[in-house]
Order: sequence, then C-alpha cells, then structure tokens
Amino acid sequence: MRRCVYCGERSGLWARACADCKKLLARVEELRGRVGYGEFLDGLERTGVAKEKILVFLKADPHGTGSVQDQVTAEMTSELMKVMGIPGRQTAQEVKHIRSKIDEEPE
Ligand SMILES: [Zn+2]
Repeated sequence: MRRCVYCGERSGLWARACADCKKLLARVEELRGRVGYGEFLDGLERTGVAKEKILVFLKADPHGTGSVQDQVTAEMTSELMKVMGIPGRQTAQEVKHIRSKIDEEPE
C-alpha cells in the first residue's frame, strides 16, 4: 500500500494521492485564479472532504515547490499586485520564506 503524498493516508496500490486529495486537487484547479481565498476554502469544503483533511492537504508540499496554500497565496498576491500596478510577482517560495520569518518572530 502506498501513502497519499498529501495527507499521508493510504491511497491504494498505485495512486500517489488518495480519493479525497484527488478530489481536492481537481477543485483547486477549478478555483485557482478565479476566486478570493475565502471562497476558495468554501469551494474546497463543498467537496465534502473533512475540514481537518483539507488543512493537511493545503499545507502538504510533496514536490518541494511550496505547499498548495503557498502556491495559491502567491498567485492571489501576484494578481493583486497586477491590479494595483505593482511590478513583479510573488512566488510560492517567497510566501514560504515570508511565512517562516513570521513563525520565527518571538511572541
Ligand atoms: Zn490524501
């Protein structure tokens, strides 16, 4: 049995992702670039997958290129910068970097 690269649950013999995470991935592709973050989360919840699992899924980084959450945040930030006329774009790596800085800040 292999384990799902996103949530770590058993995914079946050949699948890299379990049925729930595949469902979530498909929904991410549908929603990304079209809705704000709140709507994005609502859309994921409407798949019927448990919220705890959605959170695990969003934070997973199976390819080392930034988690789904960081990638989507980066896309939304880049979109916003474009709308506001700010040059450049944000990458998932930068979001990850900024977030790790914030996490390091003492209370
Ligand atoms: Zn999974």
